[in-house]
Amino acid sequence: MKKRKVVIIGAGLGGVSAAITLAQDPENDITLLERNNHLGGKLNVTEKEGFTFDLGPSIFTMPFVFEKLFSLHGKKMEDYFTLEAVRPHWRNFFEDGTVIDLEKDIQLMKNPPSSLNDVDLKDLENFLNYSKKLYEFSDQVYFKNQSESLMDVMRYWNPLTIPNRSDYLHSMDEGVRKRIKNPYMIDILNFFIKYVGSSPYDAPAILNLLPYVQWEFDLWYVKGGLGNLGKGLTRFVKELGIAVRTGTDITEIQKAEGKITHVISSDGVNYPVDLLISNMEVIPFYEKVSKEPAVKIKKYKERFGPACSGFALHLGVDRKYEQLRHHNFFFAKEGKKHFDYIFHEHRLSDDPTIYLVAPMKTDPSQGPEGCELIKILPHIPVVDPECPFTEEEYSNYRNHVLNKLERMGLTDLRKHIITEELWIPETIQETYLSNQGAIYGVVSDKKKNKGFKTPKKSEFYSNLYFVGGSVNPGGGMPMAVLSGQQVYEQIPRNMK
Ligand SMILES: Cc1cc2nc3c(=O)[nH]c(=O)nc-3n(C[C@H](O)[C@H](O)[C@H](O)COP(=O)(O)OP(=O)(O)OC[C@H]3O[C@@H](n4cnc5c(N)ncnc54)[C@H](O)[C@@H]3O)c2cc1C
Repeated sequence: MKKRKVVIIGAGLGGVSAAITLAQDPENDITLLERNNHLGGKLNVTEKEGFTFDLGPSIFTMPFVFEKLFSLHGKKMEDYFTLEAVRPHWRNFFEDGTVIDLEKDIQLMKNPPSSLNDVDLKDLENFLNYSKKLYEFSDQVYFKNQSESLMDVMRYWNPLTIPNRSDYLHSMDEGVRKRIKNPYMIDILNFFIKYVGSSPYDAPAILNLLPYVQWEFDLWYVKGGLGNLGKGLTRFVKELGIAVRTGTDITEIQKAEGKITHVISSDGVNYPVDLLISNMEVIPFYEKVSKEPAVKIKKYKERFGPACSGFALHLGVDRKYEQLRHHNFFFAKEGKKHFDYIFHEHRLSDDPTIYLVAPMKTDPSQGPEGCELIKILPHIPVVDPECPFTEEEYSNYRNHVLNKLERMGLTDLRKHIITEELWIPETIQETYLSNQGAIYGVVSDKKKNKGFKTPKKSEFYSNLYFVGGSVNPGGGMPMAVLSGQQVYEQIPRNMK
């Protein structure tokens, strides 16, 4: 019997998850085509001078989403990679010297360095109850029932209850400020938006589910580095017998009667297709591969624009910084300005909020003894082809970031750098072909898209579906994996 030819463009977490999930159906003859030489997409690693730099994600959440990939085939996730809970979750540094640790057990936040008082803790507890309700609502309508728009949500829930259940009328920041008085905790809770690379002032309040996700499902490190997640998934894909072609860049399609019949790689190889799943983001696919006229893509650009990009500076440093924890945030003096520069003004701030990862705090194997691996990742605007940042602007930005870190306690950081690896938005765009170098797919914006991403099913081709950060449920590792699982349920079983 003829099998269904399933071609997946891109072996990021979305593509790999789709491949593993579709492999449960023996009718599927799956080929995974990836332009880079590794599986995992943004889950990428480089080694320099004895340091192992994770070039992509560093925070692992919602392990049950990943477990499902393995249990589906009667396997156990722990046979492929090992997780370790991180404590504290994050350390937060403020310019006035205040330091607050986010602890899984919030009662510990009474103790130094956090020293929160009873009112602060009560507010946080109330906030987490609110966050839990938002998560439960999303879990039903978005994660389990796959709503792709507000109309879909209304099919599952009484429309009159939606505003209350989703805190529909408010932005994320408004949802935080309504419940939290401590100004430092407002900045910290607003910064959970980092998981989806958007602005808390523009994102809908439903995104306030993120703190509950972290507190409830915990924050994890993959032992040996996040690269081991990629390695474990690669081994699993091979065991399942899925055909993989790395170094294969898809640049064209052939089509007939509203279907894609073939995809063609830059070296001229033609792959026949019954079902096409693109882990390449929606806008770049329509622009560069299926080459739709601009007018057809216009509404996608207006509604489903890119999340932020990042300035990912990986440093090998020949000393320790005892005050750091595994995950750290160094906050801007003016939190709102940080976000406005990224999402509204397309400027590089001289005082950004900086996310800093020091993985050797948990795993000394990531660099030479006595050294510190420091990954610095402030979010910055995506590539604007009309007005790209110059080398000089990026270089000035690097100085602002390092000045801020030195001012806030990382004394003589610059003097101790022995090796470095810098990824700017242009590097990210060129490597993964993400839309304008976005790192989390589509932006979550109350006005533009109400927090929804692009639907997975293409409206132009009946046998084309998308997975990954540009479609629902969105960016971040667990959501990219979930998209690959969800797509299986959307594809008609008889599609040949
Ligand atoms: C620096 C950084 C830090 C991050 N931190 C975190 C974090 O701490 N926690 C977290 O959960 N998430 C984090 N993220 C986000 C997370 O990495 C992504 O949301 C997730 O990995 C995206 O998976 P994806 O499948 O959507 O896309 P991708 O990983 O981009 O996969 C798409 C794949 O498609 C391939 N491709 C594209 N076009 C073609 C083509 N034409 N032909 C062939 N192949 C093609 C690309 O090469 C790529 O491998 C971070 C991302 C970055 C860059």
